[in-house]
Amino acid sequence: MPIDATQPYDPNNVFAKILRGEIPSSRVYEDEYAIAFHDIAPAAPTHILVIPTGPYVSWDDFSAKASDAEIAGFVRAVGIVAREAGAVEPGYRLLANVGRHGGQEVPHLHVHVFAGQPLGPMLA
Ligand code: C5P
Repeated sequence: MPIDATQPYDPNNVFAKILRGEIPSSRVYEDEYAIAFHDIAPAAPTHILVIPTGPYVSWDDFSAKASDAEIAGFVRAVGIVAREAGAVEPGYRLLANVGRHGGQEVPHLHVHVFAGQPLGPMLA
């Protein structure tokens, strides 16, 4: 069920638990500002989720409240993850679902990195 992106941050959401290591994930990257792990239900041969280490519900929350250092660190991490996945050539897609119409299911900001096949006009 998609979430309301204006809800307060829930520190017990599933990605918060992954971030704290309370539930397992196949982590491929971590630094001060972001971690990245394989999506459990991949929609492409490469499907990685990159999440900020700070408590942000969505892109809206993050872009409004995060510090410049957090924003820069997160954006840089997304680029590193895609590069380390070998996805720069022939290319990849980034997606951040926000709220109910965006189809966001998990209330901790995540950017999907899709790669490994031609992705067509849309991939959610
Ligand atoms: O953007 P949206 O919120 O819809 O995407 C959530 C993503 O999180 C889904 O692709 C889902 O497969 C993934 N997920 C995951 N591990 C979980 C719960 C959800 O990788 N434990």
